[in-house]
Amino acid sequence: MTRTSAAGGGGSASLAGEVAFVTGAGSGIGRSCAVALAARGATVMVTDISEAAAREVAAVTGQPDNFRRLDVSDPRGVEAAVADTVDRLGPLTVAVNNAGVGVPTPYRTAEVSDEEWRRVLSVNLDGVFHCVRAEVEAMLRNPERGRRGRGSIVNMGSVGSLVGLAGAVTYTSAKHAVLGLTKATAAEYARDGIRVNLVTPGYVDTAISPRTDEEKAALGARHPMGRLAAPEEIAGAVCFLASADASFVTGAHYSVDGGFTSV
Ligand code: ADP
Repeated sequence: MTRTSAAGGGGSASLAGEVAFVTGAGSGIGRSCAVALAARGATVMVTDISEAAAREVAAVTGQPDNFRRLDVSDPRGVEAAVADTVDRLGPLTVAVNNAGVGVPTPYRTAEVSDEEWRRVLSVNLDGVFHCVRAEVEAMLRNPERGRRGRGSIVNMGSVGSLVGLAGAVTYTSAKHAVLGLTKATAAEYARDGIRVNLVTPGYVDTAISPRTDEEKAALGARHPMGRLAAPEEIAGAVCFLASADASFVTGAHYSVDGGFTSV
């Protein structure tokens, strides 16, 4: 797999002075987001259900103390993590709600168990709701900061937010719902200076991906660009939406899918 260079570098907006909270930041897309936000100058709280993974990524960001274990399906845990971030790092201005589970399976809707439905929805939908609620509540306490507003929330969607993915009804349902959650919250808080947007990636080639080279090639071929995304390509869009360059962007879904949903 040929990887493109990391998004960012010259020309990307500075995030100096921002305090960012990232969930599911221990691997894959979330890890890239944490690293990219820090590289642009943000102070970043790295959270993941795996404390070891969060610790390792915090070290990579150059902010080794800024990590904590967080299971986003636990609403009180989310509230405590957001409050702790504000206490330790200052007013929350950026949030990336990325934690997620669930990959396409060989089975279809009629075979989905109650347990599987709850397992995926509790993280991919309930978890995003818990985070957005706590983050908005924290951001409403921030003073207005001109074009930067009070804060920017970026939720992690998927092509499954926009089209139906066979073998992934739970995942698709959650990701569609997160699009609605994003739009409704954006509309509610637009006049409070809080922007809320969704990034909708195609399939991403992550280092921990269990896919074989053949599976990667087949998945890549489903994208008009003929390949999978590098996680850094998703992180670049997240950083844009987090920044003042996106100061008039809210309630949007931003596709980073190599053309997957354009055909
Ligand atoms: P992707 O390729 O979409 O980035 P990954 O599996 O690499 O997928 O990343 C998802 C991240 O979310 C992992 O680091 C995982 O530990 C984390 N995660 C999974 N469930 C939870 C949860 N309930 N709360 C917080 N983080 C979670």
